[in-house]
Amino acid sequence: MKLLNDKTVFITGGLSGIGKACAILAAKEGANLVIADLDSDTKENILEEIKTHNENAQFVACDVSNFEQVQSTIQHIVKTFGRLDIALNNAGIGGEAHFTGEMPESAWAKVIGVNLTGVFNCMRHELAQMSIQKQGIIVNMSSILGKVGFSSSCHYVAAKHGVLGLTQTAALEYAENNIRINAICPGFIATPLLVKGGISHHSEIEKNILHLHPMKRFGSAEEIANGFLFLCTDQSSFMTGSALEIDGGYLAQ
Ligand code: NAP
Repeated sequence: MKLLNDKTVFITGGLSGIGKACAILAAKEGANLVIADLDSDTKENILEEIKTHNENAQFVACDVSNFEQVQSTIQHIVKTFGRLDIALNNAGIGGEAHFTGEMPESAWAKVIGVNLTGVFNCMRHELAQMSIQKQGIIVNMSSILGKVGFSSSCHYVAAKHGVLGLTQTAALEYAENNIRINAICPGFIATPLLVKGGISHHSEIEKNILHLHPMKRFGSAEEIANGFLFLCTDQSSFMTGSALEIDGGYLAQ
């Protein structure tokens, strides 16, 4: 039996990296999928790839940092499917690298806008709908950097710590309402985000980051998707407010 048969699943940033792997797994498990991402020509092909696993997948162009765009996306989901069962708030960016004392205000605002306010915007509208249904599951994509610091990334680190705070707070608020809210803290995962952040194959930076993981490798997007699936089925029925670390041992040190 498919684990997400007839469930309506919303994934932000679902046309690349971790979000794409989660979308493919959810599609294989029978979900009705709505994927929100920034628009681009190249992403058309990715939606088609996801659809080969399940026809019931659609794309909505939506910038998660925009309150109204997220609101109308959730309204669209409810109009189309009647409900929202599962949401993965995953869209995120790396941002410019600077020491905190040199971080441009605009670079700070951009990362906080997408990685923290974006998650708030999504939760704000998802929880309003899930409260009406008296049922729902939310998974927020935090990071190992939601738990510890990382040089030259104060915006990213602050946002990912904030995502864990949002997760715990909402989990307390909705624990008695049949709505579970958890987060995932991945270690470094081989996705386009790393390439955008200048972590290229066989570079010195790549070697240094690999060595921060006791397993001495990057994780795969599919390994994070397996954690996502666990958090959105009854296998995790007594979990809420948790941060699931999938990090090759990074945080165990
Ligand atoms: P990715 O491959 O770059 O995918 C992120 C997706 O989100 C892209 O399609 C991106 O579009 C989209 N996006 C960016 N800004 C958006 C916005 N404002 N509204 C809607 N969509 C937006 O990155 P990833 O590695 O899969 O990362 C996914 C999540 O995991 C992020 O929250 C990231 O912080 C977190 N994470 C990643 C790692 C890692 O090592 N990869 C580790 C820990 C946590 P564009 O490509 O057009 O920008």
